[in-house]
Amino acid sequence: MTGRGRFAPSPSGRMHLGNVFAALLAWLSARSQNGEFILRIEDLDPQRSKMEYIYAIREDLCWLGLDWDAEMPLQSEQNGVYSHYFNFLREQNLVYPCFCTRNELHDASAPHGTDGQLLYSGRCRNLTEEERRNMTRKGAWRVCVPADEVTFTDGVYGEVSERLDSACGDFIIRRSDGVFAYQLAVVCDDALGGITEVVRGVDLLSSTPRQIWLYKTLGFTPPNFCHVPLLVAPDGRRLSKREKDLDLGHLRQTMSAEKLIGKLAYLAGLTEKPEAIAAKELIGAFAWGKISRENIPISDNFC
Ligand code: GLU
Repeated sequence: MTGRGRFAPSPSGRMHLGNVFAALLAWLSARSQNGEFILRIEDLDPQRSKMEYIYAIREDLCWLGLDWDAEMPLQSEQNGVYSHYFNFLREQNLVYPCFCTRNELHDASAPHGTDGQLLYSGRCRNLTEEERRNMTRKGAWRVCVPADEVTFTDGVYGEVSERLDSACGDFIIRRSDGVFAYQLAVVCDDALGGITEVVRGVDLLSSTPRQIWLYKTLGFTPPNFCHVPLLVAPDGRRLSKREKDLDLGHLRQTMSAEKLIGKLAYLAGLTEKPEAIAAKELIGAFAWGKISRENIPISDNFC
């Protein structure tokens, strides 16, 4: 065993073509290195997560032939762990409550940071204890980022460098309703789960410098990251979970698992033709060097 990869879907709907693509490449990368593959369900957001989708994700992965060696505890059961690391940051005076409203954030945050994310101005960083006590609203918690460069080498996109203070500023690690933010949870979960390789869609590339900085600040070693291109509509538009004909509920009625895997392997650049093939037969053909950085348009008649 040389490493530990994972697939971390959110159970807010049925698995979508893009999730299947990321799961396939994460699984192939782990298996081609003789590594373990872990399933870790991200049900952090209680309003959007449903148990029925958790069952469907497990069942869909079995149908696809993507097996896993262990499943990590659900995020909804991990509040004690996130609290521990949140308190660790708090003891070091690295977090503070932010009382800004949505409108204030928009007004105070121009210009925008990279990738359309808001650049937080630091407005609430220097409030006094008295000012904080006098606030009538509950605050969200932000973590103070340094004015340093975070640099890492992505397995697909190469070297990425970002200064957190100019890209996003102090970011939220706990929402005002008490729910811990994805950025904190994902780092705690993957670090404590011994994950050595994170494979996921390139839409999360811009979150990675924040996560790497959190890994280091919390005393963890960051894993290797490989971001994969997104599957997009023919006009380049991002596919959404609302496109029901591309979720597995629909796709499973129109084609076999081998046919679907064959099409995705071809789109990924792993095979010469979009022929039906079982996932395990692709393990020998897998190499990160074959995966392009360009988003991949899928045709209207994919099904
Ligand atoms: N839960 C996220 C998703 O389903 C993935 C997060 C990750 O892989 O870090 O898109």
